[in-house]
Amino acid sequence: MTATSGWTSHGWWYGPDPEPVEDRPDEQAKCGGPAMCRTCKAESGQVVEPRIPEPAVRVTAYTVSCLPVDHVGYKKLSLTVSEYTPGLWAVTRNGFFYDQNENRYSESTVKADEEVARDVLFTLTSATTLAKRLAPNVKIGGRTVASALARAER
Ligand SMILES: [Zn+2]
Repeated sequence: MTATSGWTSHGWWYGPDPEPVEDRPDEQAKCGGPAMCRTCKAESGQVVEPRIPEPAVRVTAYTVSCLPVDHVGYKKLSLTVSEYTPGLWAVTRNGFFYDQNENRYSESTVKADEEVARDVLFTLTSATTLAKRLAPNVKIGGRTVASALARAER
């Protein structure tokens, strides 16, 4: 941008030319001018950095398990309900997505196949209901939720 001079709408002078005292605006905002004020800065041709909003904190994942949270098998014998895209939630375990009929699909299949994607993405309520239905039957190797609970009680 070529350096030009002029008055901002807030009444502040900018640019390389000396301020023409004789046609100074009647009023000058107490905004601090181009160095301090976004409006003056933009009007004087300077690049204004985008205003970064306050960080937003959102819950995008839940762990669903029949085991108590302090159980040694809690992480391995649980499901995750997570937001896949805004407003659509998936029930996953070990990278696989579950549909209502308990079929499992890899993430690449979900990405490639719209029909599969429709079957494995839910409202949060539906995803949570499905995860709660699946949770008692989660297995890893030969371990089940029941055997993990039995072992903990011994
Ligand atoms: Zn200003």
